[in-house]
Amino acid sequence: MIHSNKFGEIKILEDKEYFQDKVISLAMSGGADSTLLCYLIAKAIHDGNMNTAIWPMNGYDISLPHDSLKLIKVIEFINNRFPEVDLKYPISVVFDGQGEDVKNDYLRPLRDTLCKQGAYDIWMVGINQGPTLEIQKKEFPTIKRLAGHTLSEQLLAPELNAPFVNQDKRFIVQCYKDLGLLDLYHTTSSCTQSDPGCNECWFCHERAWAEKEVLR
Ligand SMILES: [Zn+2]
Repeated sequence: MIHSNKFGEIKILEDKEYFQDKVISLAMSGGADSTLLCYLIAKAIHDGNMNTAIWPMNGYDISLPHDSLKLIKVIEFINNRFPEVDLKYPISVVFDGQGEDVKNDYLRPLRDTLCKQGAYDIWMVGINQGPTLEIQKKEFPTIKRLAGHTLSEQLLAPELNAPFVNQDKRFIVQCYKDLGLLDLYHTTSSCTQSDPGCNECWFCHERAWAEKEVLR
C-alpha cells in the first residue's frame, strides 16, 4: 500500500506474499511515528485481507511515568478501527532509567530474545530521519538532539525495517491529516513530560515545527 503526500512517499506491506502469515513486531512508544506506522500496517492487513499479526513492543521507563502511557489508548483506537486484525497486547520491558536515555539498552535484549524464541518474524520501527540540518539551524538553532538520539546509529542498523526512514515529521503529520486521523494524532505524545509537553525538548520543537508546516 502506497501513501504519498507533498512531503514524500512510503510503501507499507507492498510485498503481500512476504508478509502473509507473519508476525510483525513493532517498537511502540505511544508517540506519533510508531502509532502511525501501527495504524498503516493494520490498515494494509485489513485492506489486503491478509493473515498477518502485529505485536507491539515497548520500553517503559519508570523514571518517566508519562512516557508510554498513551500506548494503551492508541492500541484501543486501532483495535476498534480494525477489529478483525490480530493486534496483540503490547509486551513491555520495564526499567528505571534514572534520567539516562537507556531505553534501547533494554528494548534490544527483549527484541533479540523474542527473535531467538521465534516469537515474531519481522521487526519494524517507526523512526524517521528528522529535519535536515539546514531546517534545524533555521527553525530551532539552539536545540540539539539528545545524546543517543542521533539517528545515524539506528539508521545504519542492518536489520532495520523502517518505512519512514527517508521522511521527516511533516510527512507523518500530513498522513494523519489526510487519513482523517487528527484525533488519533492528538492522542499521541512526543514528549516524555505530561501533556501538553515541556515545550523545550527536541521532540516538542520537532512536533511544533511539523504542526506549523502542516496544520496551520
Ligand atoms: Zn518536551
